[in-house]
Amino acid sequence: MTQNEKMAELLLPDINKTPDFYENLYPARNLPEGARVVRVAPSPTGYLHLGTLFAALVNRITATSTGGVFFTRIEDTDKKREIEGGIENIIDGLNRFGIAIDEGFISGTDEKGDYGPYQQSHRAEIYQTFVKKLIKEGLAYPCFCTAEELEAVRNEQEAAKIRTGYHGKWAKHRDITFEEAEKLINEGKPYVIRLKSMGSEENKVIFEDAIKGKIEMPENDEDFVLLKSDGIPTYHFAHAIDDHLMHTTHVIRGDEWISSVPKHIQLFKTLGFKVPKFAHVSPIMKLDNGAKRKISKRKDPEAAVHFFAEQGYEAESVIEYLMTIASSDFEDWRRANPDASYKDFKFNLKKMSVSGALFDEVKLTDVSKNRISRMKSGEVYEKITAWAKEFDSDFYSILTADPRFTKAMLAIDRDDAAKPRKDLAKWNEAKDYFAFFFNNLFVPDYTLPENIDRADAKAFLELYKGVYDPADDRQGWFDKIKGLCSGLGFAEQTKDYKQNPDAYKGHAGDLSTVLRIAVTGRRNTPDLCSIMQVLGKTECFKRIDQMIANI
Ligand code: GLU
Repeated sequence: MTQNEKMAELLLPDINKTPDFYENLYPARNLPEGARVVRVAPSPTGYLHLGTLFAALVNRITATSTGGVFFTRIEDTDKKREIEGGIENIIDGLNRFGIAIDEGFISGTDEKGDYGPYQQSHRAEIYQTFVKKLIKEGLAYPCFCTAEELEAVRNEQEAAKIRTGYHGKWAKHRDITFEEAEKLINEGKPYVIRLKSMGSEENKVIFEDAIKGKIEMPENDEDFVLLKSDGIPTYHFAHAIDDHLMHTTHVIRGDEWISSVPKHIQLFKTLGFKVPKFAHVSPIMKLDNGAKRKISKRKDPEAAVHFFAEQGYEAESVIEYLMTIASSDFEDWRRANPDASYKDFKFNLKKMSVSGALFDEVKLTDVSKNRISRMKSGEVYEKITAWAKEFDSDFYSILTADPRFTKAMLAIDRDDAAKPRKDLAKWNEAKDYFAFFFNNLFVPDYTLPENIDRADAKAFLELYKGVYDPADDRQGWFDKIKGLCSGLGFAEQTKDYKQNPDAYKGHAGDLSTVLRIAVTGRRNTPDLCSIMQVLGKTECFKRIDQMIANI
């Protein structure tokens, strides 16, 4: 046995497999030419973050566009930061937003696919097998430095204005012998395994980032940690092993990882793996007092994707909006294909923003209003009740007490409208928007338009009760109001009033406003004729009487 082989046995005596075993266990995928294998690899440390959803979407659409595979992998090597239910939070979030998962974790507890386990804490033996091989080849070694020693080195480096880190002559255990290591292990000293870097700061690594273009950085010369003292890998090492064995073709991830690419390329090459393509997604930004900054988990409620669900944004609207951020030509495509699924969009990583795109709630609102305006009442009913069931049980009871009534309400200015109204962006606006349809939410504001006096309003409402017929269509309905104009001193036509304002108290539109205020308690509503039909004559007259009594 060579010294290196002895070292490998000393450090990892229980590892009996070889990398070949895993290479055979996870053969190349049988996919058509050009199919991309991509993944999202969240750590279960909290809720689903908008940035993770965005990266997942970009990965998903990349797989879809190329007939490839999108899988999830749980990166839970940092047990200290893990939270209970963390996997569920993230996977349920992806499911809620319609990000279909081909492989990996598909729920908080279930995984599927031939390249698993898809949870790093269950892959310790795999990582250790590859580390053992590196040790045997003299490409990795144990380091017994304590945190205090490393700190002292750092201070010394800083004082001498030298780049900090475990490199070159500062890499104390780089040439540790088998005997030295054995002695320290017998003394019970904890250790990590480090890569013996063959890189030099003088050399450049050049790679083509699929989003950011050509990037040039100094080679890595740091003997960074591969396995921590508990035998668990660092992110860098697990990333190289997993993405190799899972046959990831494109690593599409947040751009906070760009600076680590020299380490990653070095690892792939040292391990004899093909280097995947990298694509680094810029973060979603926000304007804060005029300055652009990254959306922050701490400061911004919308950083948690759950925020959108709670507010009642349709998952599809959020996705549609994220697509507009993801690709500069998505909006043109959408205009040309208003009814297509975003999944049919031919996505190209090169069209992604190199600097961070700004999160624009106004735009999201716009996208949402458009989407909701295209839904028929049946669909709105399903969505709005599903939302209310989860987030507003009081409203849920109100909406479902009489589904026929609620659906009729939702059909107004929608089902038969040539141009449906674009007024709802999210379901939490609906309770207020539709309040006047429900007696226990109806809180009228009887303030009259300035040009209408109370006596005229009352007189009009009294007369109106004598002419209203629920069977009238819109035109017939308005003609009834016009018919009352001259008797009350109002112009039937707005233009007559405008030409000769002194001759009239107002026009038919003003009287319809009075009626609107009586029936809905508001000045602006969807079509009043339809509202009255849905509410029914009895309820409308009750409200008219209530207004007469209260002004
Ligand atoms: N676990 C890493 C993260 O949470 C994943 C990065 C990657 O996609 O490689 O950022």
